[in-house]
Amino acid sequence: MCFTANCGTVNTKYFAINLPFFTEAQHHNTCLNRKICIDANGDIKNCPAMKQSYGNIRDTTLKEAIEKPGFKDCWTICKDEIDVCKDCEFRYMCTDCRAFIKDPANPYSQPAKCTYNPYICLWEGQAGYVPVEECGNYSRETGFVPDREKIARLNKQIWNEEE
Ligand code: SF4
Ligand code: SF4
Repeated sequence: MCFTANCGTVNTKYFAINLPFFTEAQHHNTCLNRKICIDANGDIKNCPAMKQSYGNIRDTTLKEAIEKPGFKDCWTICKDEIDVCKDCEFRYMCTDCRAFIKDPANPYSQPAKCTYNPYICLWEGQAGYVPVEECGNYSRETGFVPDREKIARLNKQIWNEEE
């Protein structure tokens, strides 16, 4: 299996519906909290798909790597801070990938492999689906800002909801 091709995929099959996960998700990252990995080259990282290395096992202990500045930064990035996810009903049961994100320059952008649009409650492929990007505007300064009027119109069309 190719790790980077499959990891980070968001799908209801991978949702974790249990109290420990839900509780941890309130204040911590649901994938990376307390995680450490060593890639095929011996580099110590938060996850094998990330570029940032905190040393190599040939000359760095895991404890030294964990204590380096920046290593623990992603541990506390929780779903309530992530663009789009913070508005999603699945946010406390969904694994939060930080390696594959929509805007690599923004550590709070939505996981790139998510195909759910929480503003209309539809997954890609379901009748009426439109991507999240059509429900608002994104900039690095503001993050994703939902277009409430457009979302209300879409929900009326899809679900016959009153605006
Ligand atoms: S951050 Fe993404 S790629 Fe890395 S282990 Fe978590 S889900 Fe997989
Ligand atoms: S929007 Fe965020 S919380 Fe919701 S399913 Fe997608 S990745 Fe998970």
